[in-house]
Amino acid sequence: MNNKLYGNLIFELSHKGRRGYSLPATGIATHHLPEALCRENEAELPECDELTVVRHYTNLSANNFGVNNGFYPLGSCTMKYNPTINEEMAALPGFANLHPLQPAATCQGALEVYYNLQKSLAALTGLSEFTLNPFAGAHGELTGLMIIRAYHQSRNDDKRVKVIVPDSAHGTNPASAAVCGLEVVEVKSRADGSVDVEDLRGLLDDSVAAMMMTNPNTLGMFERDIPEIARLVHECGGLMYYDGANLNPMLGVCRPGDMGFDVMHINLHKTFSTPHGGGGPGSGPVGVRAGLEAFLPAPRVICEDGNYRIENDGDAIHIGAFLGNFAVIIRAYTYILSLGREHVRMVGPLATLNANYIKESLKDVYKLPIEGLCKHEFVFDGLADKSTGVTTMDVAKRLLDYGYHAPTIYFPLLFHESLMIEPTESESIDTIDGFIEVMRRIAEEAATDPELVKSAPHSTPIGRVDDVLAAKKPVLTVKQMQS
Ligand SMILES: *Cc1c(COP(=O)(O)O)cnc(C)c1O
Repeated sequence: MNNKLYGNLIFELSHKGRRGYSLPATGIATHHLPEALCRENEAELPECDELTVVRHYTNLSANNFGVNNGFYPLGSCTMKYNPTINEEMAALPGFANLHPLQPAATCQGALEVYYNLQKSLAALTGLSEFTLNPFAGAHGELTGLMIIRAYHQSRNDDKRVKVIVPDSAHGTNPASAAVCGLEVVEVKSRADGSVDVEDLRGLLDDSVAAMMMTNPNTLGMFERDIPEIARLVHECGGLMYYDGANLNPMLGVCRPGDMGFDVMHINLHKTFSTPHGGGGPGSGPVGVRAGLEAFLPAPRVICEDGNYRIENDGDAIHIGAFLGNFAVIIRAYTYILSLGREHVRMVGPLATLNANYIKESLKDVYKLPIEGLCKHEFVFDGLADKSTGVTTMDVAKRLLDYGYHAPTIYFPLLFHESLMIEPTESESIDTIDGFIEVMRRIAEEAATDPELVKSAPHSTPIGRVDDVLAAKKPVLTVKQMQS
């Protein structure tokens, strides 16, 4: 990139009076806005020719990192490949040009896709029925908890105000419970990261609305005591909620519905290969077991004698206008169809194999706090050799120099130097071996030249920012503009 010509700011490329367009004379009389509505000084806008603008933004976009550029092992986020065919299907004019208020008779194909995905998710999870209305994983959690509350209320059981959440849970779990007006009660984890059943016993009484569980848990470990936990929670009248944001390792292997869960959400934008990041469009479908279907939100897509229609039951909860993020739904459905029944079964085992392969290949140089088979992801507690002073943050920054996205860092909070790696099933052995090699090289650099790692990144447009200030007080304007 020619940095001199294509500077960081479009303003630096601006020349007074230069234009990128010309409009023909219209013959319509000029209309003047009332003075009170006009700005006092001309807006300072960049003035550039069209090609300069195109190059500027194209070059800027090349500074982005995404799954299509390189390996993206961001734990708990499932940054798997988003196949291009998903995009092509979502862009089909028959889908892309739909209007949400269109009569159902004119969009039967779209409703069929919607309905079929509801059914596919039910089959994959062992639950009875799904809504695709929620717009994200956290929104799905809120929806699920609203369903649970509506269920208890329908039985005039108003004392159930507590939601039990493991201390290792994703932050959205307690947040969703609080937003739903429920009280969060934390259950402890055992040393191996699983839910402490003894601690749970002491928390159970007739004020429990639900227990939320993530499986595999935030450490990537399968929760072995689910049948016992489900029995205990059900015995006291509570419902079991499954945070299935990362259903990846379960796909085709086991189903939450068979484990005793009553309500769950899935992140289509993690498990089912639709793009996400930066808060982009998501979808957090919620499924319920048989007997709870009536509490699902409206609107719903119903099929009768091969005809699809949208049902808006007035008593049902509403969590958003219309039927959710339809373009994401098409992508997820395309992904499921492209894999087909036999290949969907390979997602879980391959994701698990890749994660274990990386873990075993690096555990001599990175500290593995919990030994044993992980699922789709695992957590290191920083470098094995703590004497170098090189932290997880330094390792993450140094990875950027080698062209890799950093893993999730300092989450989960169970360890001081958490480094959470999730390779997904999409990656080839060469990519994974390349990552292992670089992680080993960084461990070596930490031992021989710690300053090199501590001062990384060296190759990115900007170096280290103050994490707190960058988030809380972002400086989004350039103070000294070149004229
Ligand atoms: C990502 C994630 C969520 C939240 O999903 P969003 O779509 O970001 O709201 C919830 N739970 C777990 C375990 C997750 O990994």
